[in-house]
Amino acid sequence: MSDRPNIRNDERSAAAFARAKQVIPGGVNSPVRAFKSVGLNPVYMERGEGSRIYDIDGNSYIDYVASWGPLILGHAHPEVIEAIKRTAEKGTSFGAPTELETMMAELVCKRVPAVDVVRMVNSGTEATMSALRLARGYTKRNKILKFEGSYHGHADSLLIKAGSGVATLGLPDSPGVPEHVAANTITVPYNDLESVKLAFEKFGEEIACVIVEPVAGNMGVVPPLPGFLQGLRDVTAQYGSILIFDEVMTGFRVSYSCAQGLYGIVPDLTCFGKVIGGGLPVGAYGGKRELMEMIAPSGPIYQAGTLSGNPLAMAAGYTTLKLLTQDVYEQLERQAVRLQLGFEANARKHGIPSTINRVGSMVCPFFTDTFVINYDTAKTSDLERFKAYFAAMLDLGVSIAPSQFEGMFVSAAHTNEDIDATIAAHDQAFGRL
Ligand code: PLP
Repeated sequence: MSDRPNIRNDERSAAAFARAKQVIPGGVNSPVRAFKSVGLNPVYMERGEGSRIYDIDGNSYIDYVASWGPLILGHAHPEVIEAIKRTAEKGTSFGAPTELETMMAELVCKRVPAVDVVRMVNSGTEATMSALRLARGYTKRNKILKFEGSYHGHADSLLIKAGSGVATLGLPDSPGVPEHVAANTITVPYNDLESVKLAFEKFGEEIACVIVEPVAGNMGVVPPLPGFLQGLRDVTAQYGSILIFDEVMTGFRVSYSCAQGLYGIVPDLTCFGKVIGGGLPVGAYGGKRELMEMIAPSGPIYQAGTLSGNPLAMAAGYTTLKLLTQDVYEQLERQAVRLQLGFEANARKHGIPSTINRVGSMVCPFFTDTFVINYDTAKTSDLERFKAYFAAMLDLGVSIAPSQFEGMFVSAAHTNEDIDATIAAHDQAFGRL
């Protein structure tokens, strides 16, 4: 990859953004897309193919955003596109059940032993929101416990000390979330089992559930410390509280059987999104039959959706999951390790403080020497440096998330050449810092 500082033309993207701002709040339909925290104009995309995306000014990028996680097979995977087309020809939605929904549910139940029954929804937010309602309805308790810097979508109860976009925007909380709702959300630091136990000693009989990202992905990438997830399993069981794994990001991303398979922990409920939709809007929540049968129409806890289980989304998700064999996960791991080692060598060469966290194909370089185990340690990363690094990588043809608090997603479409070119770009970018 040649050194090509500041040659990236972004005239069309800038014009597109100016136009969008007239009619869309902040010009975007999801806040992080506005590139506000990195002080640049967002890049408007035209198309994607395999490991690459192409913007409307004619620039191309090796992409590690992967639509914020879903595109584990890369962009426009031919078999996924074909499945969507074939399904669309028969109609886009019926509001009546289709066999595709059952096939999808069977596949999820087979791969994830903790899931006996699964309900499809349209986003990760819907999945976590519905799982909370189920946990509260089942336990007849109101309080929930979540972790600082974890993002579980934008439902009111969960928009408390959330990470990722909220962290980047510097909004620890959001106006519009009623105080009485926030008062029922207990937050403690990630990986801090002692704080969890203390919270349970104080409020144990009132806590409906603990919701946790089994690998935190919205404060960068933060793996669970040994014993943390098992500790959550034990304390929730002790108090009759529901353990919810939010695997919206990690589900079918970090292993064939999700993070719970990787770490060998059985939660009561699991939330899915991203990969499960193969690039279309899908979420899901599932778990023990006894719990899930509380959901309408088998039980009294209401949850519904006009487009839930949408045929196109099911076709994309089902095809994606079918293509995700054990071999693919091994390949993802190899490429991600290669990327990590290359980045670490570059950091040493340039003498820049760097800590790289990685689980499977989720990789996150922080600009700090500190061991990153929770949101506070993630925040020791030098965000000014990240800004400069982000801009340099973009100029050098590599697309990463415009936030320090998001990881890179390696996809099955990334070749050795892509990874090497990315390491070379990282080297050049570090040379400019
Ligand atoms: N949970 C986690 C762990 C997430 O990372 C996200 C989104 O990034 C969500 C929930 C919300 O999903 P969605 O954006 O599909 O509503």
